[in-house]
This record gives sequence, C-alpha cells and structure tokens, in this order.
Amino acid sequence: MSKEDSQEAPGTLEIVRTFLNTWRIPNDTREPIDEFASLEAMQHFYATHFEASGADSAASIIPELVRQLRADLRSILGTGDILRLNKWLVRQPVEVVLTPDSDEIPLLKYRPAGKEGCRLCAEVLALVVEAIAHSTWTRVKACPDCQWVFYDHTKNKNKIWCLMTASGPQGRSCGSISKVRNFRKRQKARAARALNLPDNF
Ligand SMILES: [Zn+2]
Repeated sequence: MSKEDSQEAPGTLEIVRTFLNTWRIPNDTREPIDEFASLEAMQHFYATHFEASGADSAASIIPELVRQLRADLRSILGTGDILRLNKWLVRQPVEVVLTPDSDEIPLLKYRPAGKEGCRLCAEVLALVVEAIAHSTWTRVKACPDCQWVFYDHTKNKNKIWCLMTASGPQGRSCGSISKVRNFRKRQKARAARALNLPDNF
C-alpha cells in the first residue's frame, strides 16, 4: 500500500487517530461500539501509548473527561473550531519545551503542563497541539459514512471518505458513486433548508 493509500497519520498523530477510533461503527453490526467502556481499557491505552515516554503509570484518568474529549475532538474534525479546544487547554494546559534533533537543531516539543486533571486527556491534547503546530491536524477527518477517522494524505486535502471498499475487509464501500450522489443530495437539501424558514416559524 502506498503512502497515499494509507489512512495512518504520521508520527505521534497516529496515537490521536487511534484514540478517536476507540469509538466506531463496525460494518457487520452497524451498532456503535466503545472500546473505552471501562477505566481499565483507558489505562491500557495510556500504558500502551504514553508510559514508554515516561508518563506516570499511577496517573489519574477520569473516564467522563476521556469520553468527552474524544467526542469533542471528533466534533471539530474538518472544522476550524478552536473555541472548544481552547476550553480544553484551559483545563489541561500544554507547554512547549525545546529538544535538539539529530543535527543539534532545536525542535519545539509539546507536553502536558502540570499534573492536574486527567492524564490521558492531557497527553492526547499535547499531541493535538503538536499536530496543529505541524499543520497536520486539519488532515485528520471522519468519514461521513462510517465515522471512521482517517488521515488525508492527498495533496489538496480534499479526501472525504475513508478507504473502506466493498471488496475490502470491511466491505462497506464508503464513497461509492451512489453514496456520493446521496451525500451531495443531502448537503443540497440541508443548504436549501438553511435558507428557508422552518414550517412552524
Ligand atoms: Zn467510511
């Protein structure tokens, strides 16, 4: 699979993508499932992705906040919404530190500031801020069909649907011709409705 065909995000942004896809709609049941149904599942995710980088294993994780952050991040994908993110950054601030790269060139690194609040949220937010700094955040998108979060590698950042095809393992065929047609029809209807007053106005 070429890089353009991959849905994976570069570097640590892939952790954020994995985080967002802990809520998903499997093709066979079409019923949403939440991998973060328990605190243990969140602790496991935290240990897998952040403990190696020196994060505290006894760190506190607040399940309601984790689910809220995931929902909030999903809701702003593909938008320029910074209000919601700024609210999170007030709660879980992110700080900048400098580290040298292999050529001793200083690099900006982002990490949670302080030890307050939910550690998993803090670590994920630091990665989101880093992605914004690297202009990669806007390439993280949710498929309007199956809600799967993917990374848009296209030059013009114009990818809308995920790569699931009828012949693929998920067999979903997101973005097939008929679905694209329906999607455009719905968008058009929505735009028309937005221009008109509601019937009961
Ligand atoms: Zn899809």
